[in-house]
Amino acid sequence: MTSETDLLTTRAALDRAARAAHLVVACDFDGTLSPFVSDPETSRLAPGAREALDALAALPATTVLLVSGRDRTTLSRISEIPTESAATGIHLVGQHGSELESKPAALTEVEAALLTEITSRLEAIALPHEGAFVEYKPSSAVLHVRSLPRAEDQERLLSLALEGPAVRDGVFATEGKAVLELAVREASKGAALQTFRERTGAESVVFFGDDVTDEKGFAVLGSDHDGSALDVGIKVGDGPTVAGYRVASIDEVVVSLRHLAAVRGGSKPA
Ligand SMILES: [Mg+2]
Repeated sequence: MTSETDLLTTRAALDRAARAAHLVVACDFDGTLSPFVSDPETSRLAPGAREALDALAALPATTVLLVSGRDRTTLSRISEIPTESAATGIHLVGQHGSELESKPAALTEVEAALLTEITSRLEAIALPHEGAFVEYKPSSAVLHVRSLPRAEDQERLLSLALEGPAVRDGVFATEGKAVLELAVREASKGAALQTFRERTGAESVVFFGDDVTDEKGFAVLGSDHDGSALDVGIKVGDGPTVAGYRVASIDEVVVSLRHLAAVRGGSKPA
């Protein structure tokens, strides 16, 4: 249960964040800016949400993004915000942070070396077996075993990869059906927030979210990260969270965004 004090404490934190030289304001979509509905295709932004996002996006040195588990195309359709941020100043980030408008930053030397290593280890696993192969992506390598005729061979190759290159430090493994993806850069809402923090040199990142996947976003906020002492993580609704702040409802998210826009814009808070 959120108390009035929660909202007041949250406002105080937002007032501090509003003074950041550059500010990133990020919001999850479903359950944060948009009420849950039985047909997910009919989700829409809550009343006042778009106006609040637009008001923030119109401010100087202020970057606004939606970070959703949905893919960017769907997120654009249901939020009625274009996929190209140039039109609105609002950036859409899809698939839990893995789908950005721009190409991802080049790999660091360490990441590139690690990718080379895990790629060759996956190739060594796949190569002797007809039907197994490695798919190459910019920051990951994917072992495919679906075309192996015997299920036990599929399992064995996946196990070799899971017990081998997948356990290397800095490798993020995602298991799928007869596939294993090993990435050297984590795709998560947290990683997306850090990308925007680095890209803009933001002094503060404010992030609203309601669900388990948002916890990875909250986890990268806080005073123990570079330049993030003004960060504000805000959990929407009940449930355990690592976020420092909480609001009760989507309506309170909209009110908080309006408040932030008003304070940062220098006008009297609503
Ligand atoms: Mg959500």
